[in-house]
Amino acid sequence: MKTEILFCCPKCGNKHVLNLDDEIDLTEDKSKLKSLLDDSYFSFSCESCAEQSVVEFPFIVKDDKANFLYKLNPNDEMLFLLKDNDEREIRVVKNLNELKEKIRIKYFRLNDHVVEYIKKLIKEDIEKNNNVNVEEIYFAKYEDEKLHFVLFDKENYLGVMTYSKSGYIKIFKELKEKIDKNLQIVNLSTIDYLF
Ligand SMILES: [Zn+2]
Repeated sequence: MKTEILFCCPKCGNKHVLNLDDEIDLTEDKSKLKSLLDDSYFSFSCESCAEQSVVEFPFIVKDDKANFLYKLNPNDEMLFLLKDNDEREIRVVKNLNELKEKIRIKYFRLNDHVVEYIKKLIKEDIEKNNNVNVEEIYFAKYEDEKLHFVLFDKENYLGVMTYSKSGYIKIFKELKEKIDKNLQIVNLSTIDYLF
């Protein structure tokens, strides 16, 4: 489905109507995956001043073989996505960084509850031992038997932290009975129930 987005350029204020796909199905065709993960799918240049902007809009990405449906819901609409017989992993995220993170977690075959749990451990450890507030932390990739996370405070990139795959598996085994598979919003603020 196409959706019309009224986009107001943050630099010159000119308004443009963008006509965009509001759903990408990756089941058979992964050709758009790269443009999702590097933001180019969401990047537009202003017709008046050529300023490049990333535009977030209500959007669905799904893959029936990997069995997920992720909904980007930047406007915080009330959503009732989950159906009783829906076996897919359904998630609602509030921004593009969270959407990309969910996609990476899924295609690296990790569990997002466990990843959020580890993010919380890392965040608390860093904040306790350094004089910083970790405002944002995202799973970036799995490489060399480690999960890699990128960290930001309010304004700055703080760096990368890694967590071993064996540590991940240990936590997964401890938590797997407690994981609530029907939770549609899985992030740092909803993960406390596992602690
Ligand atoms: Zn402009």
